[in-house]
Amino acid sequence: KKRIFSGVKPSGDLTLGNYLGAIKNWATLQEEYECFYSIVDLHAITVKQEPAELRKRTLEILAIYIASGIDPEKCTLFIQSHVPAHSEASWLLTCNTNMGELSRMTQYKDKTAKVKDNEAIGSGLFNYPVLMTADILLYQADAVPVGVDQKQHVELARDIAQRFNSTYSDTFVLPDVIVPKEAAKIMDLQDPSRKMSKSDDNPNSFILIMDKPEVIRKKISRAVTDSIGVVNYTDEQPGVRNLINILCALKGYKPDEVVDMFRGKGYAEFKSAVAEALVDEFTPVQAKVRELLSEKSKLEEIYKKGAERASYEAQKTLRKMQKKIGLVPR
Ligand code: ATP
Ligand code: MG
Repeated sequence: KKRIFSGVKPSGDLTLGNYLGAIKNWATLQEEYECFYSIVDLHAITVKQEPAELRKRTLEILAIYIASGIDPEKCTLFIQSHVPAHSEASWLLTCNTNMGELSRMTQYKDKTAKVKDNEAIGSGLFNYPVLMTADILLYQADAVPVGVDQKQHVELARDIAQRFNSTYSDTFVLPDVIVPKEAAKIMDLQDPSRKMSKSDDNPNSFILIMDKPEVIRKKISRAVTDSIGVVNYTDEQPGVRNLINILCALKGYKPDEVVDMFRGKGYAEFKSAVAEALVDEFTPVQAKVRELLSEKSKLEEIYKKGAERASYEAQKTLRKMQKKIGLVPR
């Protein structure tokens, strides 16, 4: 079986973007691949986190993975910081990465665009793609299922792996990207030119997996559209297009089918269909999350077993790296 690695960082409550761009796709891949899915807490701390919140959210995300259909019997589910090899490999790879290639990462540029002074940018944010490279390479992942926004980072991981292989000798599998079709990039509901992000300050810009039905309905009804008033799938109507993508990803429709369905109908009717599709999708997930969170010992068992299994694989790769670099074995 081919292997995949992926993760979500507990930097905020999970959004519809995380669900459609990542988690839902992971569940469908678990039959075909050997999967390592992590809650990447070390990535979350590249920006300030409230400790108690971070701890709570990390467990909630594990519950969301399972409630969304990811089976802990089939996949290795673990918390990144429980496998110290990630931090260790990250340093070894940092020393094989150039400032220039990290400076070119568009996500780093986006996340620091508003900051005028370098003094105010954490170096963790700059180095983040190297830690992500370690995450992927330690498991010798053949592929990484992510949203389109993470494609550049996976390509960097591939470059770093290739360079390491040619500097030392064949060590890493070169990872490919797997991007979902309609849900590759879910856009911000208030500004459909931007990606929906869990760290956004305006809660109307995103739908959370754990949002109550009435909140989902309100946020969708407030979603920015346009004054054209016709449900069409075009670049000129980015807001409507985004809602069509969401409906397609949830219900398995094709964009053209949705356009046909709402011919001659207004945005209100269209939006309410989108909202109901979301409520239908998330209601059972939310119930399962609550149930899982009420049995903490079960979750604990899952992440402990996951860390053990992940550590075993990660250590194998880490040893190889250390040896090739010239570190004396213990
Ligand atoms: P942050 O704003 O803190 O970076 P995020 O919402 O971008 O949060 P990440 O933890 O960075 O979430 O990403 C986790 C996974 O979710 C990645 O695979 C990423 O590609 C995917 N993802 C995030 N946002 C979207 C989106 N709007 N559409 C599709 N996939 C997304
Ligand atoms: Mg992100």
